[in-house]
Amino acid sequence: MPFRRYVPVCSLFPKVTSLALLILLTQAISLAQDDPLHIWAGKLDRAGTEKWVGDHLAREQKYLDDLLAVKGQRTIENTLRPFDDAQNELNVAGSQAYLMFALASQKDVRDSGQALFQKVQQAGSALALNQEVYRALTAVDVAMADPATRHYMERTLLEYRLAGVDKDASTRAEIKKQLDHITESQLKFGRNVQENPNHVVVKDKSDLAGLPPDFVAAHAPAENGAITLSTDETDSTPVMTYAASEDLRKKMYMAYNTRAYPENKDILLDILKTRYDLAKILGYSTFADLATADQMIGTAANMKTFLEEVDSASLPDSRREYDLLLAFAREKHPGITSIPAYAHSYWADQYARERFNFDSQSVRPYFPYDRVQQGVLDTASNLFHVTFKPATDLPVWDPSVSAWNVFDGSQLIGRFYLDMHPRAGKDKWFSSAPVVPGIKNRQLPEGVLMCNFAGGKAGDPGLMQYSDVVIFFHEFGHLMHNILGGQQAWSGVAGFQTETDFVEAPSQMLEEFFHDPGILRSFAKHYQTGEVLPVDLIERMNRASAFGRAGWVQAQLFYSTYSLDLHDRAPAQVDLDAILRTDFSRFFPYPFVDGNRFYASFTHLMGYSSNYYTYVLDKVIALDFFSQFDRGDLLGGDTAMRYRRTVLEPGGSKPGTELVRGFLGRPQNLEAFKLWMDEEFRDPAK
Ligand SMILES: [Zn+2]
Repeated sequence: MPFRRYVPVCSLFPKVTSLALLILLTQAISLAQDDPLHIWAGKLDRAGTEKWVGDHLAREQKYLDDLLAVKGQRTIENTLRPFDDAQNELNVAGSQAYLMFALASQKDVRDSGQALFQKVQQAGSALALNQEVYRALTAVDVAMADPATRHYMERTLLEYRLAGVDKDASTRAEIKKQLDHITESQLKFGRNVQENPNHVVVKDKSDLAGLPPDFVAAHAPAENGAITLSTDETDSTPVMTYAASEDLRKKMYMAYNTRAYPENKDILLDILKTRYDLAKILGYSTFADLATADQMIGTAANMKTFLEEVDSASLPDSRREYDLLLAFAREKHPGITSIPAYAHSYWADQYARERFNFDSQSVRPYFPYDRVQQGVLDTASNLFHVTFKPATDLPVWDPSVSAWNVFDGSQLIGRFYLDMHPRAGKDKWFSSAPVVPGIKNRQLPEGVLMCNFAGGKAGDPGLMQYSDVVIFFHEFGHLMHNILGGQQAWSGVAGFQTETDFVEAPSQMLEEFFHDPGILRSFAKHYQTGEVLPVDLIERMNRASAFGRAGWVQAQLFYSTYSLDLHDRAPAQVDLDAILRTDFSRFFPYPFVDGNRFYASFTHLMGYSSNYYTYVLDKVIALDFFSQFDRGDLLGGDTAMRYRRTVLEPGGSKPGTELVRGFLGRPQNLEAFKLWMDEEFRDPAK
């Protein structure tokens, strides 16, 4: 469906502002043997989760007390270490309270997770504004320390200043109040989307014409023949891509784009106002300026310039794509004057069938969920020289979740959990999150994938669309970054705790591996016959999937620009609907549909605030990275190991720009990105 295809596939750990990013994405410390590292290991109910989080918060306080009690000279060991340990407590507790909020099967545990996550965030805000701790840190001499420690200290002090630690007591109290308020509102916003899908009811099976047989079979009609479809991705994506009925697609489009409306509208406006007030208190003219101050991009003005460059590079091709699609649709339905938003995916699919002889449904039988999972694991294993083994003895929060150990040679270096199929009340999106932060020789990094792929039910092979498989690769890229980067001495620089606008580079880099015939043929086998995905079908699929890239980029620019436009002005100038219409019309070639309230379910506004551009910037970096690999032998040579060593393993111990330079030998540029976009028009078969 349009937004599914265009929206990114990952939402990282939610955060309040750049300062909360520090608090919630930094982590560390080994816990005592008898201290469970997992909230779900004990009794998974309200009392159990409250006690578990309470214990971590008590330990956080103990580390801070120890830190502040130091007499005499401040050192890395007596000050930075307990600071890092304190943050680790917050991060273990915050990460897992959030997981229970997003993933627990029982409603009371989700409620509890929500409340506890807020509580941890509040403790995080308090630490971020603690002047005594800040002064103690500034008194540590790191001049002779290793580069990672120096970088960690510099970034920590920067985040303290951005948080307003140097303000007077009443101002700090006001900042904290606003941060806590934003946290609470963000969780409400997310939960409204998570727990209240919209539904579309069709009168009988005939309305599902065009949809795959297994989709129809999986939707049993009620006694009167009516079939209820939900806005969950497993229903909405196939409907938007395949349904012959334009009426059904339009209904689904509207149902999808009015999720959590109207309840989230006021919540969003309130969040935008609070963020703006916060930015003002902290000396910034807008929230976008505050939110970019600790990012690679540096300022909102730089962001704007970057987005304009990408716009110039993608606009002509995107219009060319649209004209081709419109001409094609006219051949089929003379008299059409434009392709509406709710017909775009459908016509793109039809176009691929005819022009590239590619039927996207024809590859689904080769992508049953279980084989795809094994294929993604095997590819990552070969690429990064690690092995994965099921960890059947580890407790999980739901019987459908699997746990895995990660080995580098014979050494256990991390763990991850796969929660891959929809459940009632579960988060609706596709994302990767930290579970336990890694610290070299002290604590194993752990991560999780939270996804909503087909399958997971007895008798359902879980046939995936190829875009689903790409998403799986993407999320696994995050996971590898989290685990391989989780071997640093400090929790605060572990895993993907780099600048947020670098985080989507390793994930988008791994997406590119999906197109390689050798890799695809290693796992894509027909779920009934075992036949390997034919080479010519892969070629047609790749040609078809290259079509529409410039339009995809334009859509990304829409999300980026809309996110920026809500955060680069005073609240009085924010009209959610008017800006939506303007930005939509600027970047999409098809008309805006009245009644579209997309913002009410645009959850990236919570986690990424003004900074959706992250995906575009990181796509540029990812393609530049990928251009370094030998296309004829992706898994061979030393490029993959060089990538692992220079980009993934440093985690957040270096600025993103240095990671880029370390691998490329220069800053990123738009060249590989432009070649990638142009690929569709270089194909003579077209
Ligand atoms: Zn992602």
